[in-house]
Amino acid sequence: MLKILLLLLLLIPYSLFADGHIFVYHRFNDNRYPTTNISTKELRKEFNYLKRNNYKVVPIIDMVNKINANEKVPDKWVAFSIDDGFKSFYTNGLSIFKEFNYPFTIFIAVKYTEEKYKDYVSWKQLKTISKYGSVEFHSYGHGHFGQMSNKQIQKDMNKGLALMKKHLNYKPNLFVYPYGEYDARVEKILEPYNFKAVFNQNIGAIHGGTCSDTYDLDRSAVVGSNAKDFKLYLAFKELCGVHFKRPLSYPKDKIIRTIEIELEDKSVKKAEIFLSNSGGWHKVKVNNGKIIYHANKKMKRNRIKIGVKVRNKIKLMVLSK
Ligand SMILES: [Zn+2]
Repeated sequence: MLKILLLLLLLIPYSLFADGHIFVYHRFNDNRYPTTNISTKELRKEFNYLKRNNYKVVPIIDMVNKINANEKVPDKWVAFSIDDGFKSFYTNGLSIFKEFNYPFTIFIAVKYTEEKYKDYVSWKQLKTISKYGSVEFHSYGHGHFGQMSNKQIQKDMNKGLALMKKHLNYKPNLFVYPYGEYDARVEKILEPYNFKAVFNQNIGAIHGGTCSDTYDLDRSAVVGSNAKDFKLYLAFKELCGVHFKRPLSYPKDKIIRTIEIELEDKSVKKAEIFLSNSGGWHKVKVNNGKIIYHANKKMKRNRIKIGVKVRNKIKLMVLSK
């Protein structure tokens, strides 16, 4: 009995006092693409968990407004996003969101809808969807912005936004980077579009206030084998005051040598470092806020994630080729 009580006491701070969280889904009950799919059975399980534990599911814009007002995002706030505009959301996912009365935001890559790709929602279906959630922007052609010129990015953005205006009579407030790829240059090009917020696809949480950057908000993907980590993600908090020092761009020889991160909180003594393709999290010592981790690892993919975790507080960043 005492053991159970102690265990409960240990778990309480993790489950009760977490920040807000945004989750991202792609396909629903579409087993052809297991890495971007979630079964409706799993989705229902997640929704039931949120309901049982008194989480409040809010439209993403409510979370954004809190941050922009420099306020803390209330604990237990959860928001849902659905990327790309796959038809399986319309046919399999939407009814479950309706059943639970949970708001959502669908981010569409306009080209797939405009050119009537078979697997994607039509403009007519989007109109129906917009009765229950909001439809926001995920570029026109879903290109790799990191590899496109400023002109190409602007052209893509303008084309997509014009089509959203034409078909939905809507000027989007929110944007998601295709493939979650972005850097300082891409962020700068997006500035004149005046989005209220821009989202990445890094596992994390939303603390709010000055801790959260509205042009780089974390969303955890609950797809494929990550679906089992839903509760773990809910327990994460946003690690504030993190400065990634190096590397700051994708290395030409694909080798990540030394990772250097600085924490504003100088009292931290221990942390964990994450690097893609390197076997998860690695324990490191922190000296006066400084973390040095010698990885010396060759990367396999065009996108590398580097992260830092202090207890259950987490921050990830992405480097794209
Ligand atoms: Zn996408």
